[in-house]
Amino acid sequence: MSNSGRRWRRCWGLFGGTVLAWVLGGGFGVSPALAQTCQPAVGAQGAAPFTVWYCQGDQTGQRATARVARLLDAVWPEETRPEPNGLGPPITPEANGGRISVYVTAPNETVDTGGCTFGFCSRVGENFGVTVPTAPFLESPDARLLRSSGAIIINENIGVNDATVIHEFFHVLQFAHNVPAVSSWLGEASATWAEYRYRATDVSRVDYFRGAFQPATRSSLTRSSLNHEYGAYVWFLWLAQRAGGDRAVFQLWSALEAARSNNVAELDALVGRYLATLRLAWAGNFKGFAVEDLNRNLSGAVAPRLLFGRGASGDAAVPLNVTPRWVRPPSTLNLGTRRTAVNLPLLSAQYEHIRAISRPVGAVVVTSNRMKPWGDLVVLAHTRFGWQRRDLQNGSVTFCRRLSRQNVDQLYLIADNHDDRQNRSGASYTVTGKRTC
Ligand SMILES: [Zn+2]
Repeated sequence: MSNSGRRWRRCWGLFGGTVLAWVLGGGFGVSPALAQTCQPAVGAQGAAPFTVWYCQGDQTGQRATARVARLLDAVWPEETRPEPNGLGPPITPEANGGRISVYVTAPNETVDTGGCTFGFCSRVGENFGVTVPTAPFLESPDARLLRSSGAIIINENIGVNDATVIHEFFHVLQFAHNVPAVSSWLGEASATWAEYRYRATDVSRVDYFRGAFQPATRSSLTRSSLNHEYGAYVWFLWLAQRAGGDRAVFQLWSALEAARSNNVAELDALVGRYLATLRLAWAGNFKGFAVEDLNRNLSGAVAPRLLFGRGASGDAAVPLNVTPRWVRPPSTLNLGTRRTAVNLPLLSAQYEHIRAISRPVGAVVVTSNRMKPWGDLVVLAHTRFGWQRRDLQNGSVTFCRRLSRQNVDQLYLIADNHDDRQNRSGASYTVTGKRTC
C-alpha cells in the first residue's frame, strides 16, 4: 500500500514547552479574538463535563455536534476510570466553566484554544482530529510544561466517528500525566491502542499496521513518524498480553510522569525502567514482540503463543498473515551458504522466509555471527510434527534431515536489535544447505 497522499490520521498540536511557558509568562486569557475566524457556538453539552462547539454559520459542523457529544459521553466514564484501570480524569480546564471544549470544524477553520493572541491558533487541517494542551499549564521549576488540560478539534468531514473521539480524548487524558511524552511515539501508539481498547467500530487503525508499520520493521519501534507511530499500537497489544492486562498500558503513563522533556533518550530510559518492573526488559523480551509481529499462527511449540489478533488483550481487527516486509523474497534453500547482513537501528527487526528446502539438502545449518550482546536470531523451523523455535545469539543450530523430527521443510529467520539505545551493525547470519550432517 502506498503511503503517498496518505492523510495524517490524528495528531495533536503543541508549540513546545518552553514556548508555551513564554506564552504563559506573557499573560493568558487576554482578548482571544484577534486571529480567530471561528466564532464558537454551543452545539451540545455533554452529560460528562464537556461542551461541543461549532463555528457560527457552519451547518455541517453544527449538525455533527450531537453525534460527537453522544460518542464522547459513551466512552467518557470508561476512559477516565481511575488508574490502574484507566488513565484517570482529565485536568479541569480553566476556560468554559471547567468543561472540556470540543470543536467540530471545517479543515481550515482557525480555532482559539487560548493561544491565538500569541500566534498559536489551531486548526485541524487534513487530520481527522487534533488535541491541543490548554490552561492550566503545570510546570516544572525550570518552567517546562509538564501537565495540562486539553481541547479537541474534530474534522467535520472525516473525523466524526468513534475512533477519532476515543483517540483524541485519550490525548487529553495523557496530558494529565505528562505533556512531553505525548509528542513521542508513545502518545500516538497508545492513543491508537485506545481505539481498540474502547471498542471503536471504525477499525482504520489496522491500515497503519498494514501500510506503515509492517513494511518498516527495520526502523526503530520508537521512531518519530506519524503513520508508523499509529501502526506501532500493536506493541501495546503485546505489552498488555505479556503483562497480563491492559493496566500495564495505563500504568506506563504513571511511569512517564517523571519525564521533563520529549527527548527520546530520556523517555526511553523511563520506558526501559518501567518494563524492568514488569520483568519485560527489552533485552530479554523485544525478540518476543518481533516473533509475534511475524503475525503468523505457528501453532505448536512456538512460545509464547501470542497473536495480536487473539486472546483477552488481542485486537480481533488485526488480520493474521499481514507479515513484515522480507529482507529478500521468500525462497528455496539449495546446497551452499547464503549470508544475510544484520544492520539494525535500535529496537527493530528483520525477517526472512525460506519456504522450501531442495531435495539434495541433507542438513540445514543456521549460524549467527557477532550478534551478541545486542541482537537475537530466532529460528522458526517447520517439520511434519509442527513448528519449533531456536534462539541464537552467537552460535548455530543444525537440522539433520534424515531424522524425522529435524526434517525441516520451511524456516523463518527473525533477527533483531533489542538494544534501546544504539543502532547496531556488523552482524550477520548464514544459512547453509549441506549434503550430509
Ligand atoms: Zn493522535
